[in-house]
Amino acid sequence: MHFHTSQNSQSCLLASSVAVLQAEKRGSSTGVGVGELIWPSPSDGTPFWKKDFPSSGVSPEVFADVKDSDPKHIIHVTAEMAPIAKVGGLGDVVTGLARACLSRGHTVDIMLPFYECIQKQHIKDLTVITKYNSYHDGNWVPTTAYRGVVSGIPVIFIEPSNLFFKGQYVYGGSYNELEAYLFFSRACLEWMQVTSTQPDIIHVHEWQTGALPLLYWDIYHHLSLKKPRIVLTIHNMEHYGECSKEQLSKSGLEGSVYASIDKAVDDRTIGHNPERLSLLKGGIVYSNAVVTVSPTYLKETLCTGWLASTLVRNRDKYFGILNGIDITMWNPATDIFLPVKFNDQKPEGKKFCKYYVQRGLGLASEGTQDGNHVPDITYKAPLVVCITRLVPQKGLHLISHAIKHIEELGGQMVILGKASDVRVQTEFEGLAKLHNQGPCIRILLMFSDELSHMLYAAADMVLVPSIYEPCGLTQMIGMRYGAVPVVRKTGGLADTVFDMDDQSNHNKANGFVFEGIDEGSLNCALDRAFTYFREKPDEWNGIIKKVMEVDNSWNNTAGKYVELYHSI
Ligand code: ADP
Repeated sequence: MHFHTSQNSQSCLLASSVAVLQAEKRGSSTGVGVGELIWPSPSDGTPFWKKDFPSSGVSPEVFADVKDSDPKHIIHVTAEMAPIAKVGGLGDVVTGLARACLSRGHTVDIMLPFYECIQKQHIKDLTVITKYNSYHDGNWVPTTAYRGVVSGIPVIFIEPSNLFFKGQYVYGGSYNELEAYLFFSRACLEWMQVTSTQPDIIHVHEWQTGALPLLYWDIYHHLSLKKPRIVLTIHNMEHYGECSKEQLSKSGLEGSVYASIDKAVDDRTIGHNPERLSLLKGGIVYSNAVVTVSPTYLKETLCTGWLASTLVRNRDKYFGILNGIDITMWNPATDIFLPVKFNDQKPEGKKFCKYYVQRGLGLASEGTQDGNHVPDITYKAPLVVCITRLVPQKGLHLISHAIKHIEELGGQMVILGKASDVRVQTEFEGLAKLHNQGPCIRILLMFSDELSHMLYAAADMVLVPSIYEPCGLTQMIGMRYGAVPVVRKTGGLADTVFDMDDQSNHNKANGFVFEGIDEGSLNCALDRAFTYFREKPDEWNGIIKKVMEVDNSWNNTAGKYVELYHSI
């Protein structure tokens, strides 16, 4: 096996990266300077991803200059928004789509629960705008609406005076989550009602806001909210918002009215005592349009899962629109978290980021103090990252198998993952204990937006071995940061990654794809990727360039949402 760059030319690359860095310090084209660069070490008191970063000051103008005729007013009602209340892709999608529509000339607001865990310093111009009451379980709950700007996007925060949305995290507080989101769904409509706000579109997301379309058509549309039309985006069909009739009644609707097959009953519980409702199904039935997040997932959901029959019945208003990524937030040329910026024209900084992360995590070999002399081994070891919620959907057995296989192949792997299930947490803690002292694997069990940015920038490959994946953002973000995707062929992964060795589709080829859910299938994809990396350096560099040039931004797909808004 040969590696294409000699030690000298590697040093040159590093030297040129330092030059980029220095140019940036002087305030060059990327516009973002970085402080005096200090090489991180695992023994640092504060880990390198927890230092103070400059604030991003993102503005919506950075997007493409398409302006739509007949602009609309869109209000997103959502449980997540990146970066202030993000758990997974939902938060990214809401922020990215909102920004794309704003820059196309639409008026966009995001309505979000005012989670206690939201860090207020990330909100600009936070002010109370309305004090009002919203109904829950026989009472009118005093509620405060705030307005603020997050990452250039107007946000309305809803804060009830009860315990809802209190706690350290977005999800999993010690209140009843289902009731909290029922409350939130109604409180958003109530706010529109009391403030006479009539958007053209109310865009709801996931089961958490699935009751809003029911509340709208059965209560608020008979009051003064006449204009809005409702769009529901389903980001993941597995979470269907199981709800009893009694719980739904707490929102002020008569729960038993919805317990029929053409409304919100969970088909699997028909004839059981008690039957259950699904807020997601109710949302599908009562929305004017339903979107899911990739064309392949659309097809999959029409064929499998208990919601398939509902979706088939509502086929005329069911669409598959591929998610984009927010290229303002995910931009290696301006990313505030990267020690050195880079882009497809000047990719050298990426190697510098890799070395930075390797040093910070103790994955770089010893004796490299000045940063201009990177030992061969640091470049030679392909660095694979996997950034994910640790849930069965993501292919947990394949992730843990990859650790073993990558180690055998002489590569390095970093997993940044958060488990909500105690058993999964324990399993991965065990793996972390086993591997984290060694020279090639790091398993970091936490959520860190900052570290995720640095890992995408550092990675040679991004691994996404999902069992199913409605769209998947990590493969797209990885590509933008020059990391080659290794993915299982399912859902949105199948729509965005095309195999290098598939001769029939060479133009699109941009990664390594496997189909089976067995370890052998994964091995085969990783083996092929490692072979390209080590033995076909020119082709490898070609793939990096290609993935960085792929346009997976909202510029590409926001227009489809706009067409849909118009059509309803
Ligand atoms: P899902 O929505 O199922 O979680 P996606 O691929 O659509 O999966 O989106 C995942 C998003 O969450 C990406 O932006 C990814 O970087 C981020 N993410 C996932 N896990 C973590 C983590 N542990 N720390 C930081 N970011 C994470």
